[in-house]
Amino acid sequence: MAEVESFTLDHNKVIAPYVRVIATEKGPKGDIITNYDLRFAQPNQAEIPTGAIHTLEHILAASLRDRLAGIIDVSPFGCRTGFHLIVWGEISATDVAIALKETLKEIVEEIEWSDVQGTDAKSCGNYKDHSLFSAKEWAKLVLAQGISDLPFERHIV
Ligand SMILES: [Zn+2]
Repeated sequence: MAEVESFTLDHNKVIAPYVRVIATEKGPKGDIITNYDLRFAQPNQAEIPTGAIHTLEHILAASLRDRLAGIIDVSPFGCRTGFHLIVWGEISATDVAIALKETLKEIVEEIEWSDVQGTDAKSCGNYKDHSLFSAKEWAKLVLAQGISDLPFERHIV
């Protein structure tokens, strides 16, 4: 089977919250994409509840796009400790971490339920499982701990 970089990462050694470049890949036509690990919770010690991670996903999809050009996708990890971010081109982990910090501040200070997109049965696959309250609490927690642009040591942006 193919080796997947995410599974070779030693999850016991990382210190969340952090932003890490997982890989930069070049397609057959020369296009470059970069895949990031946006880690909110310490692996195997905490996980974001589904209502919170689901609402964070919906907000990040819009608010991170307001701050970073070329976003292809932002999706939650199955382990619920963070998100994949995939972008066209290359953006430094530092710039992504700063954009994430600003987005989390916006979630805590400004975003209301009416600002969250895709919260009805027509536009979401599980619209009943959202929690803006819990999303805000997790955003506060990540901001209080600080977001590092290095995974194995604290280098907070
Ligand atoms: Zn949804």
